[in-house]
Amino acid sequence: MRLVATGQAESRAELARLSGLAASSVSLRVEQLIEAGLFAEEGAGASRGGRRPRRLRLAREAGVYLVADLGAHHARLAVADLAGTPLALSDLACDIAVGPEETLAAVLRSLHALAGEHGLRDVPVRGVGIGLPGPVDPATGQVVSPSRMPGWNDFPVRDYVTGHAGVPALVENDANLMAVGEHRGSWPALDNVMVIKLGSGIGCGVIVDGRLHRGRGAAGDISHVRILSEATVDCSCGHPDCLEAHASGAALAASLAAQGIEADNPSRIVDLVTDGVPQATSAVRTAGRLIGDVLTALVNFFNPDALVIGGSLSNAEPLVATIRGVIYERCLPLATRNLEIATSRAGRDASILGAGHLLLGVADEWIDRALER
Ligand SMILES: [Zn+2]
Repeated sequence: MRLVATGQAESRAELARLSGLAASSVSLRVEQLIEAGLFAEEGAGASRGGRRPRRLRLAREAGVYLVADLGAHHARLAVADLAGTPLALSDLACDIAVGPEETLAAVLRSLHALAGEHGLRDVPVRGVGIGLPGPVDPATGQVVSPSRMPGWNDFPVRDYVTGHAGVPALVENDANLMAVGEHRGSWPALDNVMVIKLGSGIGCGVIVDGRLHRGRGAAGDISHVRILSEATVDCSCGHPDCLEAHASGAALAASLAAQGIEADNPSRIVDLVTDGVPQATSAVRTAGRLIGDVLTALVNFFNPDALVIGGSLSNAEPLVATIRGVIYERCLPLATRNLEIATSRAGRDASILGAGHLLLGVADEWIDRALER
């Protein structure tokens, strides 16, 4: 299912080659999947004398995933096919600080409504993916000590969503989802990739040997790395001078507000930079140096093939240019010789794509159940 869903295989022969299974086993399984209504087969172009080449794809009726990528003040919602490709998208204004039950109930209501509005009400939901802007324990699906999510600490998000939606749920840190989506969508041939998410907070997801590296759950979380600075700023975690306290979108907004400039969200900061407001440009350059310093250590240590910079602040060109400059100046030549430093290609929906990809690994029991029927 995954090989067909991701477009890696379009025929029985490709499935046999990629899976290493015998052609007869693949044929039998494919026939079962077609009979169960999960695969569809379509002719591809004209026949060239011999047998007409046919193309396998997922049937539209096979199912959908519901995905929500939650930020501090909004959620990006999607109904996606089983490959993670969005079929319908919308935005929901919601304040994550009202707590988990109210937020998740509103998100699930809106996801079901979105499916209904796009004629997908009768297509079975096979899983729900939730991205959260905080550390998620992969064993329990709980958020652990998030810095700007009051009421969420230790809340069983995965159990809540599974209980209310009646299907398996995937709960993942938002930067991890972005990393998977970016890797799958734009850099599938690369083994080791770091994806930095620069928004209201600072996140990072790590792909090692082609797979998401979760560690104990907080892998890639660089927001509370201590940085050197002249002025001391206390971080929401209780320690002074974390990277996030100086260089996140929230920190930039606070520093601009102190200079009498209103910028209540990262997109507004990007607008100010684009408009050439000197205080905004100077603020993002300073942030870029701090982020670049932290990334220098990580690039030297991890030696990724690509460093992808995403999140809404990545549209601020001087920020990205400064990060790039610091890394090329300070990293070991061997670490940067073939290093790609790029801005996000999958854009704001990278997390949706990532959730879809991971869900096909998490929520797959229904496939066996469908075949038994
Ligand atoms: Zn901190």
